[in-house]
Amino acid sequence: MFNGAILIGASERQGGEPFFAINPATGARSDVAFSSATPAEVEEAAGLADAAFESFSTLSPDARAAFLETVADNIVAIGDLLIDTAMAETGLPRARLEGERGRTVGQLRLFASYVRLGDWLDATIDVALPDRQPLPRADLRRVNQSVGPVAVFGASNFPLAFSVAGGDTASAFAAGSPVVVKGHSAHPGTGELVARAIQAAVKSRGLHEGVFSYLPGNGNALGAALVAEPRIKAVGFTGSRGGGTALMKIAAGRAEPIPVYAEMSSINPVVLLPGALAHRAEAMGAAFVGSLTMGSGQFCTNPGLVIALDGPDLDRFVAAAAEALSGAQPQVMLTPGIHAAYERGVAALVGAQGVATVARGTEAEGGNRGQAAFFATDAATFRSNPVLAEEVFGSSSVLIRCSSIEEMVATVAGLEGQLTATLQIGAGDEADAATLLPTLSRKVGRILTNGWPTGVEVTHAMVHGGPFPSTSDGRSTSVGTLAMMRFLRPVCYQDVPDALLPPPLQAANPWGLTRRVEGRLEVAA
Ligand code: NAP
Repeated sequence: MFNGAILIGASERQGGEPFFAINPATGARSDVAFSSATPAEVEEAAGLADAAFESFSTLSPDARAAFLETVADNIVAIGDLLIDTAMAETGLPRARLEGERGRTVGQLRLFASYVRLGDWLDATIDVALPDRQPLPRADLRRVNQSVGPVAVFGASNFPLAFSVAGGDTASAFAAGSPVVVKGHSAHPGTGELVARAIQAAVKSRGLHEGVFSYLPGNGNALGAALVAEPRIKAVGFTGSRGGGTALMKIAAGRAEPIPVYAEMSSINPVVLLPGALAHRAEAMGAAFVGSLTMGSGQFCTNPGLVIALDGPDLDRFVAAAAEALSGAQPQVMLTPGIHAAYERGVAALVGAQGVATVARGTEAEGGNRGQAAFFATDAATFRSNPVLAEEVFGSSSVLIRCSSIEEMVATVAGLEGQLTATLQIGAGDEADAATLLPTLSRKVGRILTNGWPTGVEVTHAMVHGGPFPSTSDGRSTSVGTLAMMRFLRPVCYQDVPDALLPPPLQAANPWGLTRRVEGRLEVAA
């Protein structure tokens, strides 16, 4: 009866409770019956990951990088089958998925090049001072090492770039962590194709089979069992606030609590300053709607809140945005559940006291399509009703009309943590921008000026994180090479003989690393 597989190390199984993919564009159920992993398979995968830890976490940078590159090559080699499968399971268009595949293999290759640099090991040496008075100092050498096996939850809204071989998996592998993936139940066929590509890379690179396992399934029990499994040492997650906080509670309640790096909910405020409004209100209105409706608004960086000084220039922005939005075509949403949650969120805003509907997108024909929505209110109403600050995942945004810059600052100060904040500035806005920036920087992980928050570059400097509830740990990022740091911890070796030290700390520096010696960087030749 089953066609979909569970991958445990080098083996594959079928069984458990069958589940099916739904084509969100048509509502049709897949012919394939997917297998669900059982608690026994969670244990088995975690046991193998634990057994793989020592050999995988101590691989040379070159060997680890070559593995990441092989995963990337194998994903490319799947070809159109991957794109066609993802289109049928997510309703996302071909061009978007081809771009996302490029981003997925690009980030695997970026991590490979960064792993080769070796500076993430942060090899640091304070040599012994035997003659120091009144007491001698020991030889102290510190290096980063993997925290252990990592559980990764694939995200619904990035079936490639934030799913089975997405940013969490790539950064965990880069850090030397074996990975057990809980596949998202909305795109199981896509997930399995990518999982097989990773499994093949593990084999062809001669690595321990436990470096990777793939556990598909739907229902909360599987994910809960994975986070509770004692051999799992950290968790990467992208999804809902409810899901993320549930996993944080499970992780904190374990006999050995572990960190959960959950990226959850964010409404990404866009602040329009008076000079920007005076000079380009209409252009900003149209560009805002472009960002709001991209991908049916199903981005964690979607601009769900606009904060601006009330007046005729803001009216011009609103008129331009309303015109652009009323022509916005409804787009297929990722799952019936996500569409239903969007409809509930919009209905709550339509019915909220003191909130006006500025514009709606074209009415949706056919099921599971999101009809865009833009609302407006004043700062006092916004402050008094917490529902207005909740994420509505999809193309929905609320404008706050403020009476002064001070009220704009107070509105920002009252917000929860966010992934991004955007400042639209023009001539004469410098002083207001300088007033707002310190408050904004306390709230977010990334501040943009004169851009739009959707579209996240995968680079070394990127921060895709922020204070709770945008993430569970505002000290981290889930995009960019810094994401590796979530899965590393420092270990200090004191007076350990050279031959017993890990290679990054040995006197001969066999990996040719740049190291910090007595506080000064010694750059590799
Ligand atoms: P989700 O419901 O949080 O699910 C994400 C993953 O976590 C799934 O694999 C799910 O497993 C698992 N999970 C959820 N709750 C759990 C629990 N209590 N215990 C154990 N495992 C749990 O997110 P989603 O399915 O992607 O979308 C639902 C909503 O999430 C959206 O409407 C949106 O509000 C939000 N979302 C936000 C972002 C963002 O970037 N901010 C991205 C995507 C989604 P099962 O599905 O198998 O139960």
